[in-house]
Amino acid sequence: MIRILGTIFAGLLGLAFGSFLNVCLSRWPEGESVVKPRSHCRNCDHTLSWWENVPLVSWLALRGRCRRCGAWIGLRYPLVELAVAAIWTVPAWRLMTSVLNPTLPPALIYLETARTACVLAFFWFLVALAILDAEHLWLPDWITLPGIALGFMFDLSIVALPSIDGLDGVAVGLLPVALLSLLAIAAAAGLMLFIRFIYWLIRRREGLGLGDVKLMAMLTAWLGLRSALLAFILGIVLGASVALVLLAIPSARAGSERWSASKLPLGTFLCIGGVVSALWGQPIIATYLRWAGF
Ligand SMILES: [Zn+2]
Repeated sequence: MIRILGTIFAGLLGLAFGSFLNVCLSRWPEGESVVKPRSHCRNCDHTLSWWENVPLVSWLALRGRCRRCGAWIGLRYPLVELAVAAIWTVPAWRLMTSVLNPTLPPALIYLETARTACVLAFFWFLVALAILDAEHLWLPDWITLPGIALGFMFDLSIVALPSIDGLDGVAVGLLPVALLSLLAIAAAAGLMLFIRFIYWLIRRREGLGLGDVKLMAMLTAWLGLRSALLAFILGIVLGASVALVLLAIPSARAGSERWSASKLPLGTFLCIGGVVSALWGQPIIATYLRWAGF
């Protein structure tokens, strides 16, 4: 029961943080402050009262339109809120297992809680990057570059500090782990630069932005090379599926000349792959290895 309540709490917190993310996603590209002014309609500047600002509920009650001018608010608002809430519940559910385990020392539970908070922040930024790339083909350096550094430190903290998996990195030594981690990040970035170069050789134009390279480095820093590669494969499969569906829709094909030259937001698919890989990467890889006969 406590486990369910804790998970529901994480989901509600996710809705609130998703709501704040929506404000950021509307204002970052315009270079506006995310603190001031208060939330308002982007069409008529009508300042929202508190009940127009409740995540999800207000959008449903207003049927996705501004109360004053009737402008369409957009599906992105409830989608982002739901996405953050949904993906936050999974790490929270797992954390509750540790919290409710009476044999674990309190210090370890605090550590696991801090780690879970880091993962939630990582997911929050992945949703941010996914939407920014989908709406603006923009993966800002000020998210991806600190993201790489934070992921690297997160990775080290797992080895350096005790964890419930009982991984004691002291035996391995922190330096080799750090070097391996840096090598993995460099390898992932190198792979993306190589694909970018090949694409340029064939098509003579940029198919894969430097933002995607940094995003892939960030995923590797957080997840390790194997899970990051899984995220990459999932992202490519998802992106190709979306491209095929778009090609199959006649209205999208009508502008096929323009469409073939337009870019799909690879970063969006990489972020989705990253979340899936972070949450279920181990079982997916294990299933694949068993299926492949290893
Ligand atoms: Zn309005």
